[in-house]
Amino acid sequence: MNIVWFKRDLRVHDHEPLLKACQSGQTIPLYIIEPELWQQPDSSWRHWHFIHDSLQDLDKSLQRYGGKLIIRTGNALSVLEDFRQRLGAFVLWSHEETGNAWTFKRDISVGEWCKANGVIWHELPSNGVVRRLKSRNGWSRIRNERMSNQLILVPQVIPFCSQVTSELIPSKDHHLFGKNMEGRAQSGGRTEAVKTLFSFLKDRSQKYTMTISKPGVSARHCSRLSAHIAYGTLSIREIEHATKKRIKEINDSNIPESKFLKNNLTAFLSRLAWRCHFVQKLEQQPEIESQCMNPAFEGMRESNFREDYFEAWKYGKTGYPLIDACMRSLIENGWITFRMRAMLVSFASYHLWLDWRKTAHYMAGLFTDYEPGIHYSQFQMQSGVTGINAIRMYNPIKQSIDHDPEGKFILRYVPELKNIPQTFIHEPWKFESYSNHYCEPIVDHLKAIRNAREKLSERRKDSGFKENAKATYKKLGSRQSRIKKSKPLPENKIQTIFDF
Ligand SMILES: Cc1cc2nc3c(=O)[nH]c(=O)nc-3n(C[C@H](O)[C@H](O)[C@H](O)COP(=O)(O)OP(=O)(O)OC[C@H]3O[C@@H](n4cnc5c(N)ncnc54)[C@H](O)[C@@H]3O)c2cc1C
Repeated sequence: MNIVWFKRDLRVHDHEPLLKACQSGQTIPLYIIEPELWQQPDSSWRHWHFIHDSLQDLDKSLQRYGGKLIIRTGNALSVLEDFRQRLGAFVLWSHEETGNAWTFKRDISVGEWCKANGVIWHELPSNGVVRRLKSRNGWSRIRNERMSNQLILVPQVIPFCSQVTSELIPSKDHHLFGKNMEGRAQSGGRTEAVKTLFSFLKDRSQKYTMTISKPGVSARHCSRLSAHIAYGTLSIREIEHATKKRIKEINDSNIPESKFLKNNLTAFLSRLAWRCHFVQKLEQQPEIESQCMNPAFEGMRESNFREDYFEAWKYGKTGYPLIDACMRSLIENGWITFRMRAMLVSFASYHLWLDWRKTAHYMAGLFTDYEPGIHYSQFQMQSGVTGINAIRMYNPIKQSIDHDPEGKFILRYVPELKNIPQTFIHEPWKFESYSNHYCEPIVDHLKAIRNAREKLSERRKDSGFKENAKATYKKLGSRQSRIKKSKPLPENKIQTIFDF
């Protein structure tokens, strides 16, 4: 008897644990809804909405091959123990999960339970993340090799164990998943993932690099695959293969704009590699969810936490038009582009001097695509606490002028500014009667930045700073100069379910 435990891999394609389980005997595809996970401060209804769609789609796919998704609600150990008592010993299959601190501890307990109860647990690698990596130097070679491997076939038949019955998938607004707040979540599921990938490669990517930082239009021209990648409705390898196939077609087409089209897709491929690079950091050092990569920065922001600043930032009421527009857009849509995420965090961490751990949990709940590995590494980078990355303090006024010059995006989300002349849209406080319309800037940009710089440079003089930075680089730093670009795949190796 085999149980395939689906976690952040909600698909039947390119799914080695499912194939191997089906090859070795009767199989139960299982998804466990763990109430305690949903009480963690980084969980939110948005994640559940996406997972809900994905579970429905996964069940349909499994049924196509003779299987069915079995849903159980409860603590993973109790659910597995219940199966053991009913069915006797079984083999457990799953992908390795690089999740949050809670799932990390849960997996340790499941591992111990398996050992104590004679259950064999096969955890197979997921995407480009390498468990028990000896040295960061060899990481990109291993990742690129994995990406160029053949995709794993869908089992022809799932030898389903029909003795087990499933609970219903709880509704989207079930109280287990927290309060439904304002806004919407991106639709989930494999079918949606394939459509999104297809439209990106075929059409939307044509303006990818030129619009990636523009908050008004990036939602259309970025791939929008992040939530699909986070919950595994597509594997990174599937996306890489499909993208390389598309690049080859563009190459062969000899159309005048082929170089430009290819550059967009090459930039996209690099981001897929960054994704694995960031998740690898959390895999190697789970503590980065709650501890500064460089301990010299501990104790810097925790005291005198300004709740009033936090509230203003959380709800888009800081008096800086682009900051407020981005936050309100994020509350409404559950997604915003990279640069605007970075700017929002930079503003919270430098201008408002808020502790990144609190702001990170809040934003994790807002992002449909919450991926702990990227999230915490990026929060630390944008808050200046890694010790190995250049410090980047975004100027919200410059960002506004550069990326929303006419203020269209701002006006969509900050309608209070609609009666203010366009020349003042980026700095409404320069308009004489602005305070009748919109709030005062919460802090003075230049003063706040100067203050933040002084505090950071004080910490960088700390005696342990340099040693810690060296150690962090050795363990987690990017070896970009040494990263060999992943090569185009030979034609006979490209496998894809997508035709252009
Ligand atoms: C503070 C902060 C927090 C973030 N938190 C998350 C998160 O929780 N989940 C998440 O998926 N991304 C996160 N990102 C990275 C990035 O903003 C999103 O991946 C991207 O905006 C998602 O949109 P897309 O799929 O259209 O991206 P595309 O530009 O189309 O990129 C394709 C894929 O590459 C990966 N990727 C893109 N940019 C990055 C990056 N800078 N670092 C690592 N991987 C990247 C993602 O998997 C993404 O889906 C965060 C960035 C910042 C600054």
